[in-house]
Amino acid sequence: MLIVMKPDATESQVEEVLKVIRDLGFKPHPMPGATRTAIGVTGNQGAIDPAHFEMLSGVAEAIRVSKPYKLVGRDLKQEDTVVRVGDVEIGGAEPAIIAGPCAVESLDQTLAIAEVVASCGVKLFRGGAFKPRTSPYSFQGLGEEGLKILAEARDRFGLRIVTEVLDTETADLVEAYADVVQVGARNMQNFSLLRRVGQARKPVMLKRGMSATLDELLLAAEYIMAEGNYNVILCERGVRTFADHTRNTLDLSIVPAVQNRSHLPILVDPSHGTGKRHKVIPLARAAIAVGADGIMVEVHNHPEQALSDGPQALLPEMFKQLVAEVRAIHKVIAEADASLV
Ligand code: PEP
Ligand code: MN
Repeated sequence: MLIVMKPDATESQVEEVLKVIRDLGFKPHPMPGATRTAIGVTGNQGAIDPAHFEMLSGVAEAIRVSKPYKLVGRDLKQEDTVVRVGDVEIGGAEPAIIAGPCAVESLDQTLAIAEVVASCGVKLFRGGAFKPRTSPYSFQGLGEEGLKILAEARDRFGLRIVTEVLDTETADLVEAYADVVQVGARNMQNFSLLRRVGQARKPVMLKRGMSATLDELLLAAEYIMAEGNYNVILCERGVRTFADHTRNTLDLSIVPAVQNRSHLPILVDPSHGTGKRHKVIPLARAAIAVGADGIMVEVHNHPEQALSDGPQALLPEMFKQLVAEVRAIHKVIAEADASLV
């Protein structure tokens, strides 16, 4: 059920609708928009009778939602969601860039890469302290020590930290250090973890599972939003196909598909999407041209010594080129769009 308030509905009329929803035993999700507030209702097993709401003052209409998702959809919220991480916006006017090593390996390595990232004016720094590795014998991350190193990089260079949460057991710890909590591809359908980050007060970046459809991705985001965390960022990171020239097949077509159905911002990760350094810049350019809200890329100062994902890590000079090109492409498109109005 989706309740659309009249454009001139007052705050107390909205409050009254929220109360009726709660009294029925359901959860209200108010989404204020530019022209009207819409309220999503979750927690109901069957259909709700619209008559409960249609008679309330300030209500324009109560609509049964036919799509499998409610809160992530454009029916509930027409305007694009902008996720704010301190003073940095994801989904706003400028393309968001998240960059850093695959894994936090040491204080020296992390600070050296953080300095490169910060010197390009990029504010969002990534690095895994808990790593999801295919082999149990591969480097698993530094754990809390890694989170402390990230906090040091944040303090020294004025960065915001994006880092992955692997499981519900370590969710409190990761949330305490992170500015954005990342849910990786392998966990996209870990429903208890999705519910847990839905209760977090930090924004969540949700990566697409390696064989997830668009609906599965949106429904995973719905799990997070249904718990009350509306600051969700989606991320395309490539899917498994028969193509063997690339680690994954980066599915840029999902960007306009997401934007058609959902108000949530979507980023593209051409590092995991390709697995090869020489493909990262070309696909980052394409991601911006296709309309993504930004990119996430891996950078390393000594990729040949990296403990994970060295072959896809950009060298510092390549990262500088990428940042300049991403900004230039974004500007050209924004200016062309503005000249049409
Ligand atoms: C990562 O971003 O570090 C990562 C492990 O990515 P993915 O979950 O997309 O494989
Ligand atoms: Mn990686």
